[in-house]
Amino acid sequence: MEKSEKIRILQDLIKIPSVNGKEAEVADYLAKLFAKYGISSKRIVFEPGRDNLIAELKSGRGKKVLGIAGHLDVVAAGDDKLWKYPPFSAQIDGNRLYGRGSTDMKSGLAALAIALIELVEKKTPLNGTLRFMGTVGEEVGELGAGQLTKMGYADDLAGLLIGEPTNDNLAYTHMGSLNYSVLSHGKEAHSSMPREGFNAIDHLNEFITRANQAMQKVAEKYQDPALGHTIHNVTMIQGGTQVNSIPGSAALKANIRTIPEFGNEKVIALLKKITNELNEHAAYKLELHVDYDKIPVQADKNSSLIRTIQRQFSKPLPLIGISATTDAAEFTKAPHPFDLVVFGPGIPTLPHQINEYVEIDNYLAMIEKYQDIFADYLK
Ligand SMILES: [Zn+2]
Repeated sequence: MEKSEKIRILQDLIKIPSVNGKEAEVADYLAKLFAKYGISSKRIVFEPGRDNLIAELKSGRGKKVLGIAGHLDVVAAGDDKLWKYPPFSAQIDGNRLYGRGSTDMKSGLAALAIALIELVEKKTPLNGTLRFMGTVGEEVGELGAGQLTKMGYADDLAGLLIGEPTNDNLAYTHMGSLNYSVLSHGKEAHSSMPREGFNAIDHLNEFITRANQAMQKVAEKYQDPALGHTIHNVTMIQGGTQVNSIPGSAALKANIRTIPEFGNEKVIALLKKITNELNEHAAYKLELHVDYDKIPVQADKNSSLIRTIQRQFSKPLPLIGISATTDAAEFTKAPHPFDLVVFGPGIPTLPHQINEYVEIDNYLAMIEKYQDIFADYLK
């Protein structure tokens, strides 16, 4: 494939504003692209307008399956006016290609798809199956990866490469993410007669103090060599109806980034304990809800997939942990463990920011590297 076409494909993908929804348009585009090179693909509908896409390249008699995955959605662009170039215009400026999703992760997605196509074009011999998986709703809960995992698409994987942006690093571990909310039920009363009521905000405040203290202790006690410690933040709060009333209700939302050494189950148990202890006071009525529960992922640093990648470089790439969650949090729920790495073009600090861009050289080089990696892993 011509270099100019590779760049155009990435531009076309960025121009589809697949902000949590509309992934079907991205899936259609890739399905047509695959078809042009004689590669069949299959859509797995998550809900109307939101399709995952699977394309497989089977060759030789080998049973080994390498999954290559990328998400089709992007996060919202925010205020268009703050962008140097309109976020869905895919503007090129020197070596940079700007746009929402350029780094996270339409460059990775395009590079995976094009690498597969070029292996077909060049008739590179493989001995096994290369399974491309484009997923919906990664940014809002890894919805597509969850669906595909339940359907068994990760059951037979020997390895999985996720093309999220890591620049020239190999990520073998990432933090989990856990959102929870607490509702505090009090009793409204006139603010001149507080004894007639129960102040829901005060009760919630007591919860926040205890949760922060407890999570601080966890952070001090448990450390992961690659990921660091657990991060806890209360991020939203509301309560009360007017200034001269004792508030009858209050609510908070919080986010926790978890590490394998103190996993999501332990965090949830700790929060439950704090809520239960407070609820022993008659006036307290706190309700804890876990709204989002993505486990941390830790793969073998020395897996055959990682060693395969390292062989393609003259100097070994740094092995790192990342704080953001990925589709791996769902795929690794499959019954058998497999080699896992997150490795893709783009700059890891740029996702979800204005003026997101990818370096074109980095994108084009990754298409070549991917082919070498896939062919070597499935030889
Ligand atoms: Zn991403």
